[in-house]
Amino acid sequence: MKIPTIVILSGPSGAGKTTLLNKVFRKKSIKENFIRSISYTTRTIRPKEKNGRDYFFISKRKFLSLKRQGFFLESQRVLDNYYGTAEYFYEQAEKENKNLILCIDVKGGLYLKKKKKEGKIVTLFIAAPSELDLFKRLKKRTETMRTIQKRIALAKKEMKVSRLYDSIIINKDLSKSLKELEKVLLENKN
Ligand code: 5GP
Repeated sequence: MKIPTIVILSGPSGAGKTTLLNKVFRKKSIKENFIRSISYTTRTIRPKEKNGRDYFFISKRKFLSLKRQGFFLESQRVLDNYYGTAEYFYEQAEKENKNLILCIDVKGGLYLKKKKKEGKIVTLFIAAPSELDLFKRLKKRTETMRTIQKRIALAKKEMKVSRLYDSIIINKDLSKSLKELEKVLLENKN
């Protein structure tokens, strides 16, 4: 049994992580070698999201109870909500002889990089080309102005931490970013 490599994808909300991940997972080379986790969150579901596909949407009470039981490989509070990666995705990757991709915030990413003793951890930061670009993308999601402001303030903090990541993709051109992402993933698969 191979020890899965964990690839951590972080970056501001609206930088295009999810779009890139969805696209890269259409490729056979990626599907054959990777699984991606679906996080648990206490945030409210957005109009186009689906429970069990985008996230498992659960109450704060349930989340904290799962956390106490040791259900999460890592979990963090991001803005006003909790997010967590279930341990069983790592076990699933192990069983299937695949590697695991997590799309998590920088605190979770750096925590895992420190904590995981065995196997390789690769950190990849996806950035938006500019603050204006990020603003436009967040606005398209019909977020409230208050939420957008909070997310942009967080994005600025995250950008500062991005230097601690192994590599960074500035997502200006989607097809170029997609190629870069595929390359990083295939170079680092176990
Ligand atoms: P959003 O609410 O925009 O979907 O996500 C907000 C932030 O939480 C993003 O940076 C996203 O990557 C992060 N996030 C999503 N799932 C997890 C998780 O399981 N753990 C951690 N630490 N962060 C997560």
